[in-house]
Amino acid sequence: MYYISTRNNKDKYTFEEILLKGLADDGGLFIPNEVPTISQSDMQDILVMDYKSIAIRLIKLFTQDTFSDDLLEKMVHEAYESFNNNKITPLINLDENTSILELYHGPTLAFKDIAMQLLSRMIEEVLSKNNSRASIICATSGDTGGAAVASFADKENIDLYVLFPKDKISEVQRRFMSTSQANNINIISIDGNFDDCQNIVKSLFKDKAFSQSVHLTAVNSINWARIMIQIIYYFSAISQNPKYKKNPDIIVPTGNFGDIYAGYIAKKMGLEMGKLVIATNVNNILERCLNTGRYNILEAIQTNSPSMDIQISSNFERLLYDLVNQDIKRLSQMMDELVTRGEFSLNEEELLNLNTTFEAGSIEQIETIDIIKKIYDQHNLILDPHTAVAIGVSNKNNYTNSIILSTAHPAKFPEAVREAIGIEAELPANNKNIFNLPEDIKNMKNDISLIKNNILSNFRR
Ligand SMILES: *Cc1c(COP(=O)(O)O)cnc(C)c1O
Repeated sequence: MYYISTRNNKDKYTFEEILLKGLADDGGLFIPNEVPTISQSDMQDILVMDYKSIAIRLIKLFTQDTFSDDLLEKMVHEAYESFNNNKITPLINLDENTSILELYHGPTLAFKDIAMQLLSRMIEEVLSKNNSRASIICATSGDTGGAAVASFADKENIDLYVLFPKDKISEVQRRFMSTSQANNINIISIDGNFDDCQNIVKSLFKDKAFSQSVHLTAVNSINWARIMIQIIYYFSAISQNPKYKKNPDIIVPTGNFGDIYAGYIAKKMGLEMGKLVIATNVNNILERCLNTGRYNILEAIQTNSPSMDIQISSNFERLLYDLVNQDIKRLSQMMDELVTRGEFSLNEEELLNLNTTFEAGSIEQIETIDIIKKIYDQHNLILDPHTAVAIGVSNKNNYTNSIILSTAHPAKFPEAVREAIGIEAELPANNKNIFNLPEDIKNMKNDISLIKNNILSNFRR
């Protein structure tokens, strides 16, 4: 097995190369040339393992000989030491139709911690082996930034840059990023929206002279290693699900399409499940695409589930590679059309294939508030607004055997929770100090040269 770009399947890359590059030079995304499949008997072994053992077993299939067995085991154990639940991703029964997979027990209370905690260790290992350093950059709609800061703070050979849309994320999200006190962390608010931040990151990578000179590395969900690590909890979910509930539909609050794409890979590996359900707020480009075949960009609308206020779902390109049957010419055309005209269309067969694996639904802000209230009244359980969107979609589409991915702790979104039930969810005790520490944020215009100069002036050889 080796890695290819979605826009060029001739050149071959190792895991180590794609880990550090993040995004391919041709603008495409890295994917394995073929997804490893798991035999039935191996599957039975895996589905009785604990989380860390599943992780070690599956990640090895994708990283091959990049890390020794001992090193991989050590990194996995250290990555999940700081999680406040020993199952890492516990599956909770809500009612007879619905279970909730809690993905928010990491240091910054969002599912992004699960991949980032291990990804940072992998990058650090490869850099120190090569006696190298890197500038890591990510755009965040709120949660990636905090997870990256918690994972990369004080790592010797790394400078981290986080771009976020000014005033468009919650205070708790912002404080998780801005209070680290670490010298190698640079938090930058951009006058613009999330897509502006993401476009700056993409343009920096396109400037090869620049990106090579500062060893630019991406840790957004466009980095394959994050997808790879997220595959684990789909296996963990099925292993915790009662046997009589066969093939649950899995409902995923979706923005950049990274999380649900990991579920798609798990399915390709042989994990049995029902539909993968894309749940969104009113920023529903994917739902519209599933219904009509037309993927067209509209203006992003700010909502109370901000981590999904995204118009371009970057990881969708990885799925498109399969939908167009690996026809990279067609895929490159679609991506060009997206840039020049703001849209592309699937043909009938591609649309049919999309709809065999995926379903979609979306709900409005007010419905999100209603769901948080209803679940609190009925189950005494406080949901964050992203999880509430997924439950709303589950109710709307009448799923009777479903697993909801719960992507954030409700204390990260106090405004929405207070509006729904009049109280706030409490932050876990070891997170409360973010309100006592000073914040360190630079504000910049939506201007790529400003970011470039900042990275250049920090880069030390
Ligand atoms: C990032 C995020 C999402 C969206 O995940 P994608 O992988 O971008 O689809 C959903 N909910 C929360 C809380 C998030 O932080």
